[in-house]
Amino acid sequence: MIIYFPYLFYGDFQGMTIFPFIFIRYKYLKHNKILINHEKIHLRQQLEMLWIFFFICYLVEYIINLIKYKNTNIAYHKISFEREAYINDKNMKYLNKRKIWAFIKYLK
Ligand SMILES: [Zn+2]
Repeated sequence: MIIYFPYLFYGDFQGMTIFPFIFIRYKYLKHNKILINHEKIHLRQQLEMLWIFFFICYLVEYIINLIKYKNTNIAYHKISFEREAYINDKNMKYLNKRKIWAFIKYLK
């Protein structure tokens, strides 16, 4: 379910997923197929991580990356969940063939 809710966002962020919702910063973004596909990949990740473990792992990875790279933007883009989503969000058929816990391949 896509919800227009601009109050969540700062910086360059356009979308955010908290299962079962995809929040978007601007109404027109619901037509942005790549962004919505990106967020749908996060929906799948959250489901298979039983929701709460997704957020715990996401935060732990982010903190480790932040210590490692000392840069918030790099720390964010190196999170395995984000790497999987960014690498595959242009492929609209990705979720049809994706295997469970596919983000593990993107751990660095
Ligand atoms: Zn993302």
